[in-house]
Amino acid sequence: MATEKMTPEEEDQMIERQYQELLQGYLNSNHRKKVEIIERAFRFAKSAHSGVRRRSGEPYIIHPIAVAKIVSQEIGLGSTSICAALLHDVVEDTEYTVEDIEAQFGKKIAQIVDGLTKISGGIFGDKASVQAENFRRLLLTMAEDIRVILIKMADRLHNMRTLGSMRPNKQYKIAGETLYIYAPLAHRLGLFAIKTELEDLSFKYEHPEAYATIKQKIAESEEGRQQIFERFAAPVRLQLDKMGLDYEMKARVKSVYSIWNKMESKHIPFEQVYDLYAVRIIFKCPESEDEKKICFNIYSEITSLYKMHPDRLRDWVSTPKANGYRALHVTVMGPDGNWIEVQIRSERMDELDERGFAAHWKYKIGEGEEDTELGVWLKTIVDVLNNPEPNGIDLLESIKLNLFASEIIIFTPKGELITLPKNATVLDVAFTLHSELGTHCIAGKVNHKLVPLSHKLQSGDQVEVLTSASQTPQQAWMQFLVTAKGRSRLQAALKKDRRHIINKGEEIFNKFIADNNIELNNDIMNKILAEKKYLNKEELFFALGNGDTDLSEQAVETYKKGGILSRLLRNPFSFVRGNSSAGKEDVYDDSVEIDPKKTYLLTTKNGKNNYEIASCCHPIPGDDVVGFIDDNKHLIVHKLTCPTAMRLKSAFGNRLISTKWQTLNEKFLARISIEGIDRMGILEQITHAITTTLGINMRNLNISANEGVFECTLAVLVEDTNVVTTLCKELQQVKGVTKVARIND
Ligand code: MN
Repeated sequence: MATEKMTPEEEDQMIERQYQELLQGYLNSNHRKKVEIIERAFRFAKSAHSGVRRRSGEPYIIHPIAVAKIVSQEIGLGSTSICAALLHDVVEDTEYTVEDIEAQFGKKIAQIVDGLTKISGGIFGDKASVQAENFRRLLLTMAEDIRVILIKMADRLHNMRTLGSMRPNKQYKIAGETLYIYAPLAHRLGLFAIKTELEDLSFKYEHPEAYATIKQKIAESEEGRQQIFERFAAPVRLQLDKMGLDYEMKARVKSVYSIWNKMESKHIPFEQVYDLYAVRIIFKCPESEDEKKICFNIYSEITSLYKMHPDRLRDWVSTPKANGYRALHVTVMGPDGNWIEVQIRSERMDELDERGFAAHWKYKIGEGEEDTELGVWLKTIVDVLNNPEPNGIDLLESIKLNLFASEIIIFTPKGELITLPKNATVLDVAFTLHSELGTHCIAGKVNHKLVPLSHKLQSGDQVEVLTSASQTPQQAWMQFLVTAKGRSRLQAALKKDRRHIINKGEEIFNKFIADNNIELNNDIMNKILAEKKYLNKEELFFALGNGDTDLSEQAVETYKKGGILSRLLRNPFSFVRGNSSAGKEDVYDDSVEIDPKKTYLLTTKNGKNNYEIASCCHPIPGDDVVGFIDDNKHLIVHKLTCPTAMRLKSAFGNRLISTKWQTLNEKFLARISIEGIDRMGILEQITHAITTTLGINMRNLNISANEGVFECTLAVLVEDTNVVTTLCKELQQVKGVTKVARIND
C-alpha cells in the first residue's frame, strides 16, 4: 500500500481529502445541509481511531469515511446515517460507550450505532445457537430502524472491496457469509447495484480463476456484441424518435457471477450463454401517471419490429416486485437469431433500481402506513423471529427462502389478498392464515376445484383451505412449505414430537449397530453421517425415527473399519484409513497442527494423505476447494460449490481452512455421466476411448438403455480436472453420444 511510504503529514492530508469528497457528495444531494454535525462526527471518529491501522496498513479512519461515502452516494441516505456510519466502529473498537455517543450526537445516532455494534460480531459465530441469536438480533434491529441494516450493508461492501488484504481463510468466511446472507438481503431491500457487486466480489475470492476467465471472455466478445446491439437498436431508435421520446438505450452485460451461475446450472460453456446482456431503454417522463402508458407504447413498437418470445412478458409496472422493482421486460428475437431481453422503464423507475427503495422509505416501521410491501415483509420476519425454533440453521434457511423468493398474489374466499413466495402451496396459505388451520389442513379448493395440500398456487388463484379435526402435522410437509411463516409454524407444531422421534431413531440406530457387530467410534459415526449426508447425530436419529432414511445391511462393510469401499471412495490409491489396528483411531497420528492463518497444502507423504476427500462432492485437483476441520481434527476437502460446504461455511466459518492441491501422480475418483442414442457397439467405443485412447483407468461402469436411448455412469481414476475435461471432449466425439458431464455430487 502506498500509505506506508507517506509521512504523517501526507497521510493526514489524504484523510482530509477523502473526507472532503464525502462532504462534497453530500452537499450535491437533495438532503438538508447539516454539515456541522457531520463535521463533528468525523473529528470525533478520527481522534477515537487515531494511531490504529487496518490490515492493509491504511489509517483506520479511512474505513468509516468510505462506509459513510457508500451510505451517502450509493444508497442515498442523509446526515443521520452519514454520522452513524462515521461512528460505526467507535463503540466496538475504542474506549467510548454508546452513552458518550448519545451525549455528543443525540439519541437517534446513538441508537443506530448501538444496533451496529450489537451485530458487529458477524452474523455467524462458532455455534449454531449463537449464530441464530446474532441473526435474530440483526433482523430485529433492522425492523426497528432500517438504517442499521443499510449501514451494515455499506460496511460489508467496503470490507468486500478491501478483502484482498485479509488472510485466505478469513476471505472464505467473509465471502461465504456475504453470498449466503448479505447479497440476498441487499436484493430484498432493492439495493440491486450493491447486491450485484457483493456477489461478484464473493465469487472473485471463491473462484479466482473462473472469475478471471469470464471477465476476459466478456471483454473479448465486446466488439461482436456491440455490433449486434447496433443492428438491433437502429430501427428501434427510429420508432422511438418518431414517438418524440427523450430516452437512452444501452446494452447491459450480466454480472460475472450470474453468467457463471448460468454456465454451472445449465452445464454450458461461456459461448453458449446467449442472454449475456439485456437492452435497457430509459425514458424521461415528467408526469408519473403517463409512465405505464409509455412503457406499453414502447413495447408495442418493439414487438412490431421483432418477434416476441411467447411467454416472456414481465409486467412489473402494473404490479411492482415486492422489493420495489418496476419495469416492463420483454424478450424478442434479435437480428442474430438469439433472444434478447429488453427492459423498459422511466428514469424514475431506474433511479429506484439503482439505489434501492429502502432509501426512499420511512425509516421507522411501526404505527401507520406499514402496508408497503417492505413493511409487510419486515413484519413477517419479526413474526418468524418471535416464534423460536430449535435449530438455528433451519431458521436461517427459512428466512433465506423468503429473501430469494419472487412473489405471487392469491385471494381468500372473502376476497382478501395474500402475497406469497413463488411455489407456495395450499398448505402455505393455511399456515399463513393460522397455525391451527395449517396443522389440521387436509386439502384445498383452488378456483373451486379440489386439490391436495401440496398443490402449487399461481398468481390470481382463489384459495380455500379445507380442514379436519383428526388431521395431525407431518414432518413431510416441510418439503412443500415455502413460506418462512409456514415453516416456522409447522416446526413449532412438530417440536413437541421431535424429542420422541429422536429417541425412536436412536433405538433403531443402536439396534442396527448391535445386530451387525459394529464397534462404534467417532470415525465410524462420521462415516455414517457423511454417507447419509446428515450434519450431526441428532439429525440422523430424527430422520431414522421419522422413517425418512434407513440403514441398509449392504452398507455395513462400508461403515466397519477397514471397509474397502469407504477407502476407495475417499481416495482410491492410498489405503490409509482403516490401516490402523483396532483401538488406534486417529489416522493422522503424524499430522501437524493446522494453522488456520496459512494456506494448507493437500499432499501425500509416505503413502498417506494429509486430508480426506468429502464423500458428498468428491473434489479432485483442479476443483476450487475449501478445507473444513471436523470434530476429530481431520481436514475434509469439499468443493466450494458443494451444498454441504455452503452450510458448513455459514455455520462453522471458524473451522474453514484455505487449501491448495499439491499432489504428484495421485489418482482420484471422478464420475462421469453419458447420454446418447443406443446402437450396436457404442459401449465398446466408449470404453475404447477411455482406456485405449486416453489410457485412463476405469473403475466402474453402469449402463441402462430404454427405448433406444441409453444412460451411462462411469467412475474413472484421474489426476485432475484437466483429464476429466479431455475425457468429456473425447467421449463427445463418439457417434451417438449426445451429452457428457461430470457428476458433481
Ligand atoms: Mn466496519
